[in-house]
Amino acid sequence: MKAMLSYYYSTVMEQQVNGQLIEPLQIYPRACKPPGKRNIHGLKVNTRAGAANSGASAASEALPSNSLKKSSAELKKILANGQMNEQDIRYRDILGHGNGGTVYKAYHVRSGKILAVKVIPLDITLELQKQIMSELEILYKCDSSYIIGFYGAFFVENRISLCTEFMDGGSLDVYRKIPEHVLGRIAVAVVKGLTYLWSLKILHRDVKPSNMLVNTRGQVKLCDFGVSTQLVNSIAKTYVGTNAYMAPERISGEQYGIHSDVWSLGISFMELALGRFPYPQIQKNQGSLMPLQLLQCIVDEESPVLPAGEFSEPFVHFITQCMKKQPKERPAPEDLMGHPFVVQYNDGNAEVVSMWVCRMLEERRSQGPQ
Ligand code: ATP
Ligand code: MG
Repeated sequence: MKAMLSYYYSTVMEQQVNGQLIEPLQIYPRACKPPGKRNIHGLKVNTRAGAANSGASAASEALPSNSLKKSSAELKKILANGQMNEQDIRYRDILGHGNGGTVYKAYHVRSGKILAVKVIPLDITLELQKQIMSELEILYKCDSSYIIGFYGAFFVENRISLCTEFMDGGSLDVYRKIPEHVLGRIAVAVVKGLTYLWSLKILHRDVKPSNMLVNTRGQVKLCDFGVSTQLVNSIAKTYVGTNAYMAPERISGEQYGIHSDVWSLGISFMELALGRFPYPQIQKNQGSLMPLQLLQCIVDEESPVLPAGEFSEPFVHFITQCMKKQPKERPAPEDLMGHPFVVQYNDGNAEVVSMWVCRMLEERRSQGPQ
């Protein structure tokens, strides 16, 4: 309870500073109870203006009243109407650096919304810029709770900014070893996200823990999928290396298909379960790009298997199937959703992930800056 209140207090303070809508405090009974019995009364404490909690209600009174009224859907409409531009964005902290660019936590002045803005330097012609913008159009149509919300993109000088929904739990690559019952719920969301993209004939092409985002509400969303071939190609020109999560057939330069995304899903979840990259001979220090020769063992050797004593039989089987060396032997999208591991955890229980994310953030905060 103490951890929950302290976490809530810091969230409220941040929301107040950012001029955001203050989320009501949700109280859940202790984590040790069986998940189905938790918060059976749907307990919520209203901390908005006029409510008993004076600290938080004062915070919410300080907000501009219009920001309280705007629904998320309305905001999405406003933001997606081509109205995103640099003038309305105030960059705050750096959330992380990738191979292509830098992701910032930012405040959108006109909507009062917190965003994640990925800024990628790209020295390309105006023609190519236009092509990228038109290829990104499909992102406005993506509508799934398992895919990161897209608010818009714009070019300023030689860089593109991609504005997306901010996820307060960040990406899964920084979470060390994740327990199986949490990982199961995360896997369900990731499989649903991938299935949604595949249904739109979009291959993700960059499935890896740093492209799986979580938030304190227990949501899990995919980001950084390759909708714009031109953007992917333009970024690829600026850095060298091969992605360690790539399927063997892709490392060998063969054709890429849904099955290659399935491999990357398998190796990512194996890493998240073990708390280390599954091939001991591959040291991933920073980022996921490696010299091609170092990844040759993925092509040459048998796939690693999760230790059966430590993990459940369905989980071990799920990973083994996804990491079959032959692409055609890996599960098809419909088989993934019907796999016993996914079925077992497809119970809609976001609380398990939510509690775990909150606990991990609290631990990180109490340890202070590393
Ligand atoms: P790569 O460039 O190889 O894809 P990456 O995924 O680690 O590597 P970025 O996509 O640039 O690099 O992201 C950098 C970091 O920013 C991520 O690891 C994640 O922690 C953070 N991040 C990205 N998008 C968001 C978001 N929407 N909300 C919160 N944090 C984010
Ligand atoms: Mg990324």
